[in-house]
Amino acid sequence: MKYDVVHRGDELSARLAEKFLALASERGMMQNTEQPDLVISIGGDGTMLHAFHRYVDRLDRIAFVGVHTGHLGFYADWKANELPELVEHMASIRDAGLEEKIVRYPLVEAKVIRERVTSVHLACNELTLRGVRSMLVARVDINGSPIEMFRGDGICVSSPSGSTAYNKSLNGAIIHPSLEAIQIAEMASINNRVYRTLGSPMILPKHHHCEIVPKAGQHLHISVDHLQFEYDDVVAIRCSVSEKKVRFARFRPFPFWVRVKEAFIGADVD
Ligand code: NAD
Repeated sequence: MKYDVVHRGDELSARLAEKFLALASERGMMQNTEQPDLVISIGGDGTMLHAFHRYVDRLDRIAFVGVHTGHLGFYADWKANELPELVEHMASIRDAGLEEKIVRYPLVEAKVIRERVTSVHLACNELTLRGVRSMLVARVDINGSPIEMFRGDGICVSSPSGSTAYNKSLNGAIIHPSLEAIQIAEMASINNRVYRTLGSPMILPKHHHCEIVPKAGQHLHISVDHLQFEYDDVVAIRCSVSEKKVRFARFRPFPFWVRVKEAFIGADVD
């Protein structure tokens, strides 16, 4: 099995990456940074987002595994002291068995249409759109029909696995990643007798799309996971569930709702 390791860059993560390389080489597996089958992210959720974007052009051929060096992450569920066990799992299944261990999570596809250029981004967690020098003013269309005129801090469009990230801080719902959907959540919308938005998060199925059409002339900040962009010529952003998915190798079961409980509530519920 060809693998690559992406680490956070701190001393502990770098040391663990070295240890992983040594353990994997003992089992006859070699690092391949060009065409890995498996990418091991060592650090936290942010490290996994970096790994995802490094290999975003090969998503259909790569599976990811996350090792956390701090607290349990949503994308990083292996502990630092479990590297030998992780390598054993990899060595025991080799190439043929990897497909059976893979879970696939939906992604947000965002087409950012600017005056002269259009770019397509994939978000593992979310896309956000915010005003830079003033609040965001934007029309929100669902499937081509205007639904509201948004005025406020910004808009977040998240994937199911990203629903526990920024979206959760915005009181969005947590969505199981087996559901092919995107969620639109408001950031501090203005609601009074003059301005009105829906005020509730909206969850769109795979065959629907939303378009955010900012008022012309605004200086806007766009984030795609940890990546940041600023533009003053955004015409529209069209978001939908991508045809592509991110693949995670699950060498042992860790149900999503158990992950939610352990991350946000704690191990014991009494
Ligand atoms: P980071 O790695 O420090 O991540 C920030 C926090 O978000 C960490 O605690 C991380 O564990 C958590 N996180 C990331 N993805 C998650 C997920 N899918 N489910 C649950 N928690 C998750 O910082 P970064 O590298 O800049 O990461 C970018 C991410 O940070 C964005 O995708 C966004 O979701 C998140 N973020 C959250 C807020 C907020 O909640 N107010 C604000 C900005 C960014």
